[in-house]
Amino acid sequence: MSAAVPPAMDPAAAGEMAREAAAWCALHGLVVGDRADPRSATVPGVGLVHAPFSLLPAHLPESFWRQACELAPIFNELVDRVSMDGNFLQDALSKTREVDDFTSRLLEIHRKMMEINKEENIRLGLHRSDYMLDSETSSLLQIELNTISASFPGLGSLVSDLHRTLIKQHGTLLGLEHKRVPANAANTQFAEALAQAWAEFNIDSAVIMMIVQPEERNMYDQYWLSTHLQDSHGITTIRKTLSQVEAEGQVLPDGTLLVGGQKIAVVYYRAGYTPNDYPSEAEWSARLMMEQSSAVKCPSISYHLVGTKKIQQELAKPSVLERFLESKEEIDKVRKCFAGLWSLGDEEIIKTAVEKPELFVLKPQREGGGNNIYGLDLRETLVRLQKEGGDALAAYILMQRIFPKASLAYLVRGGVCHEGLAISELGIYGAYLRYKDKVVINEQCGYLMRTKVSSSDEGGVAAGFAVLDSLYLTGKADGIEARDVPGTFLSPKLILYIVLEFVIRVAGALVK
Ligand code: ADP
Ligand code: MG
Repeated sequence: MSAAVPPAMDPAAAGEMAREAAAWCALHGLVVGDRADPRSATVPGVGLVHAPFSLLPAHLPESFWRQACELAPIFNELVDRVSMDGNFLQDALSKTREVDDFTSRLLEIHRKMMEINKEENIRLGLHRSDYMLDSETSSLLQIELNTISASFPGLGSLVSDLHRTLIKQHGTLLGLEHKRVPANAANTQFAEALAQAWAEFNIDSAVIMMIVQPEERNMYDQYWLSTHLQDSHGITTIRKTLSQVEAEGQVLPDGTLLVGGQKIAVVYYRAGYTPNDYPSEAEWSARLMMEQSSAVKCPSISYHLVGTKKIQQELAKPSVLERFLESKEEIDKVRKCFAGLWSLGDEEIIKTAVEKPELFVLKPQREGGGNNIYGLDLRETLVRLQKEGGDALAAYILMQRIFPKASLAYLVRGGVCHEGLAISELGIYGAYLRYKDKVVINEQCGYLMRTKVSSSDEGGVAAGFAVLDSLYLTGKADGIEARDVPGTFLSPKLILYIVLEFVIRVAGALVK
């Protein structure tokens, strides 16, 4: 079931297709705020540019796609179960709290909720589990699980539509079939889950409140969800920053959260995941106020903590999954996608990482891209932290580096099409809604493919490292294969690129 080899097409055709695609983006709302326009992050409808995208979808063997989809409801359930074990979360993060102020503040709110036995009868999770295909072992390995502010459910769905449209139009020429781009309804399914949570809350006059950053160039991804909520469910969404919530919000004695006089049914966080979102005490008191209220929190403080990198590493320890899942089959499926994960209490692993830093990634307890440490920086950081002594190392986890196979891609950013070797990261969205003992929703809902030049270590689209992509299912099971890019696309520049990459890899292997 692998795609046919397409006929030749000259590079000018790629440029022309990129122009068509960029126009499609403008017409269909696949847009972000343009960095070049200072008002684009605060004033809707001003300074729009097409979201960065890949011209053709990344190829993925269908077996890996199925594996990733099957994992979504299991991770949804796992998050819920781990979230209910407050002591596990506090204990697992106890060392991190000593050295990481942000985690410590989150844990403080969590502890306060434990002290008052705060119950969340309606629990809503909108997660995204990210994976890469490791070419060395030909296995799908999890990068991380996002339980707060998983981005691009809105725009990601549109990229699948864009790719299907382009393939329908140029399919014969490209040798691709549009049906092999799987349907992607992350936008409507996330809106549906938010709407269901609102319905469970059962107050018709209440609204959904999206917590946003004061400046947000990715606002259209968010507006897609509020538009679906209004159009398909008749539910109003208001947008507030953490500091606005602090200024305008209050919790009534019965637990009702009022913001600007409006009753809030669901708090949906698209901010609050990084220390930058809490520049003063005001933002922290807003977070605490919302947590204390009876509104549905997506995520609650405990769901948020389950998504930390430290908990990912704790869950990968022997026998820990068994505490939370009963089914041996499900445990095996989850464990199979875990890469090597270590805490830095382990001297042996530090020694190995210092010797071979290229095989590891050092991760602090942060979200949002641009925080990980690689290569020589990783070695230097480990050596320095060890010398300094104390608990500083507890702020990080160490992860096996995953090496996806690079393939040729056309990445379009700011109306310019760049060709290059690229690697992709697959995100699978999951929605989970629970009312007391009843699971109302537990499903996989759509996906996000992100593609970046293979020389970049980081992966965020909003952070400027990657572009949005979709996927093209193939029958092969040997990793993400080369895209079906026409032969004459291999310009002299590109051939030089490939040769250089090869030389660097061989040189790297000799040094090891
Ligand atoms: P963040 O919370 O900042 O998104 P991630 O764990 O997702 O943190 O890491 C950011 C990016 O770094 C990922 O999108 C991926 O491109 C890259 N990355 C993370 N972990 C690994 C790994 N183990 N091997 C290779 N690349 C990784
Ligand atoms: Mg990530």
